[in-house]
Order: sequence, then C-alpha cells, then structure tokens
Amino acid sequence: MIAIYPGSFDPITLGHLDIIERGCRLFDQIIVAVLRNPSKSPLFTVQERIEQIRLSTEHLSNVEVDSFIGLTVEYAKLKNAQALLRGLRVLSDFEGELQMAHTNHTLWNEIETVFLATSNEYSFLSSSVVKEIARFGGSVAHLVPQQVAIDLCRCYTETPLE
Ligand code: ADP
Repeated sequence: MIAIYPGSFDPITLGHLDIIERGCRLFDQIIVAVLRNPSKSPLFTVQERIEQIRLSTEHLSNVEVDSFIGLTVEYAKLKNAQALLRGLRVLSDFEGELQMAHTNHTLWNEIETVFLATSNEYSFLSSSVVKEIARFGGSVAHLVPQQVAIDLCRCYTETPLE
C-alpha cells in the first residue's frame, strides 16, 4: 500500500521524520509530498525543502520525495496511493485535520486518511517553533535533521534581524 505524506515541511523537523519512519513500517511506500502553495510565503524554496527531506530520509529505502500543486486527492490518484498520512500533536490539530480528511473522502471515496499520534517528545514541535528559535540565534540541533540546522543558521546569518 502506498501512502502520501503531504505537507509544507518548511522545514522538515524531527517530528515529521518520526511520522515518516513509523509510517514506513505500516506502508510499502511513503511519498513525502511538498505542497506548492502559492498563498504561503515559505522560508525555503520547494527545491530546498525537497533536498532537506531527501537527505534526512536517505536511510529509509521505501521513501520517495516529491512536490505537487492542487488537490491532494488528485495527486494521490496520479501516484496510485490509497492513503494519506498525517500527524496529530495536540487537540487543536484535530479539528482541521478531521475536516480535511472528511473533505478529501468526499472528493474521492477510495482514499483513507491515516493519523499517527506524535511521539511524546515531539508533541510541541512545529516548523514555526523551529524558525522562531533559529531566528533569534538559538540552537535547533536537537529539533531538526543536521542539514536543516545548517540551512537555518545560514539563512538567518545572511538575513540578520532588523
Ligand atoms: P501543513 O501545512 O500541511 O500542516 P506541516 O509541514 O506543518 O504542513 O505538517 C505536515 C503534517 O505533519 C501535518 O499532519 C502535521 O500535523 C504533522 N506534524 C507536524 N509536526 C509534527 C510533530 N511534531 N509530530 C507529529 N506530526 C507532526
């Protein structure tokens, strides 16, 4: 069974990676798909995010990294995927995620959304939290894959705070 793990991944964190590693044990293949969202202004380009995810998942043989634009279910059909993988951290995630799962099911009733509960140590972790710490010069080495920590450091050194 193939699952799509869609998201912004701006940038990928150890929380995302934990979901990918655990998903790999449940599915034959996981496609981590970076959403090209024209209404968001991300810190990293899609190409940079793809590269960061590739480097972080090199040890996983059944992971593919890609990007897509438009409806997730259309992309899932294109990839012959039967499931969408999403992570749940706190109660506030639940409402939006449930709405999205129902909506996707109305668009294509053969798609199932599978939720994995976050591991305890990553329940507070989000890409925004990581960017906030890095922006003010804090260390994020314990929160993101090594390459991402380097990229964040470079990013905020090149563009110092005003
Ligand atoms: P999106 O903009 O689609 O929410 P994100 O990159 O923020 O993209 O998240 C992608 C998915 O990963 C979402 O299902 C989100 O709940 C999940 N996720 C993000 N951080 C964590 C974490 N620390 N633990 C578990 N799941 C997470």
